[in-house]
Amino acid sequence: MVEAVRAAAARELPSLVQKIDVEGYYPESVMREFGRLGAYAHHLPGHGAAVDLVTSINAMAAAGEYCLSTSFCMWCQDALAWYIYASDNDTLKQTIGPQAASGEALGGTALSNPMKSLFGIEAMRLKGRRGDGGYVVKGLLPYVSNLGNDHYFGAIFEVDDPKSGSGKRNVMAIVPCAAEGLTLADNTKFVALDGTRTFAVQMRDVVIPDSLIVADPADEYVARIRAGFVLLQAGMAFGLIRDCIRLMEQTKGPLGHVNKYLEEQPEPLAEQLVAMEAEVARLAATPFETDPAYWRAVIEARLIAGEASVKAAHAAMLHCGARGYVLNGAAQRRLREAYFVAIVTPATKQLRKMLVDMAH
Ligand SMILES: Cc1cc2nc3c(=O)[nH]c(=O)nc-3n(C[C@H](O)[C@H](O)[C@H](O)COP(=O)(O)OP(=O)(O)OC[C@H]3O[C@@H](n4cnc5c(N)ncnc54)[C@H](O)[C@@H]3O)c2cc1C
Repeated sequence: MVEAVRAAAARELPSLVQKIDVEGYYPESVMREFGRLGAYAHHLPGHGAAVDLVTSINAMAAAGEYCLSTSFCMWCQDALAWYIYASDNDTLKQTIGPQAASGEALGGTALSNPMKSLFGIEAMRLKGRRGDGGYVVKGLLPYVSNLGNDHYFGAIFEVDDPKSGSGKRNVMAIVPCAAEGLTLADNTKFVALDGTRTFAVQMRDVVIPDSLIVADPADEYVARIRAGFVLLQAGMAFGLIRDCIRLMEQTKGPLGHVNKYLEEQPEPLAEQLVAMEAEVARLAATPFETDPAYWRAVIEARLIAGEASVKAAHAAMLHCGARGYVLNGAAQRRLREAYFVAIVTPATKQLRKMLVDMAH
C-alpha cells in the first residue's frame, strides 16, 4: 500500500504542489485516490488484521515528501477514522467509519482546543446542552482542516453536569459539516498549509443526535486515543525531513565545496531520522498503553519530530541558498511548512509544558 501511495504521490503531487502552496488548491482527488489505495485504513482498531499505525504513518510520509498540506490532510483523515474505530459506537463503525477509512467521506478533527483545554491551557470553546435524543451545541472553532460541505469532523463539547466534581463533563461526537446551524468560514490566508481547506467553524445550536456520539463522558476515551493522535503526526515530519535531506544532497554537486562548512549536514540528519522512525515504530506498536512513562515517551518523540522538522528545513534553506529563496523554490516552501509541524497541536510550547507538568 505504501508503495502504491508513494507512486501516486510521485505522479500527482509534483505538478500540483505549487498550486496547493500558492493558490490554496485542495488536492481532493489525490486525497480520494490515497483512500482507495488504503492509506487511511491500516491504523484502525477492528478494521483490518491488526492496529498498524506505522503503515498509515509511512503513507502520510510518502505524500509529505512532496507536500505537507496533503500529508496534513491525510493525518486529519486518519484522525477522524481513528476516533470512530476506537469508540464503542457500532453504528458509526458501520456508516461513516468505512467511508472515512476508504476516503469516500472526507473530514478531520477539531481537537486542538480540547487538547489544550485538557492540559490546562485554554477553556473549552464548544458548549452543549441536552436536547431531545441528543445534544444541542454552540461555539466557534477558529481552525479546522480537511473540511467541506459534505465532510465530517471529530469534536468535543462541554456540558453542565452537577454530579461531576467540576460541574462539567466533556462529550465527544462526529459532526457533519452539513448539519443545520453549522457554517464554515474561509477567512484566513496562511503562509503555508493553505491548501488544507481550513475553516473557522461556527456552530449555532447544532443538534448532535446520540447516534453520532463517540464518547460520553469523553475524558477516559481521549486518554485512550491521544497517543495514536500524536504518533500519527510523525508521518508529516518524516516525509518533510526526507525531502529536506534530499534537497541538501542535490546541492552537493554544485555547492558541496562550500556547503560542507555549514553546521548541519545531511548525513547526521539522516541518522537522526532513522532513530526517530525506530522510536515512533516502537511506540506505535502499543497505542493503548496506559503507563505514564509511555505517554511521556510519546510526547518526547513528538517534540523531537517538530524540532527536527524545523532544523532540517532551516538546514535545507542554507544549503540551497538563492536557488531555494526564489518564489517557486522548494526550500523556502519546506521551511514555511516545517513550522506547522512545530505549531500544530500539540505545539512545541504545549509539549514542553506537558513534560514540565509531568515532572511534578
Ligand atoms: C493551517 C492550520 C490548520 C489547522 N488545522 C486545525 C485542525 O484541523 N483542527 C484543529 O483543532 N486545529 C487546527 N489548527 C490549530 C492548531 O492546531 C493550533 O491550535 C494553532 O496553531 C494554535 O496553537 P498554539 O498551541 O500555538 O496556540 P496559540 O497560538 O498560543 O493560541 C492560543 C489561542 O489564540 C487563538 N488564536 C489563534 N489565532 C489567533 C489570531 N489570529 N488572533 C487572535 N487569537 C488567535 C487560538 O484560537 C487559541 O485559542 C490549525 C492551525 C493552522 C495554522
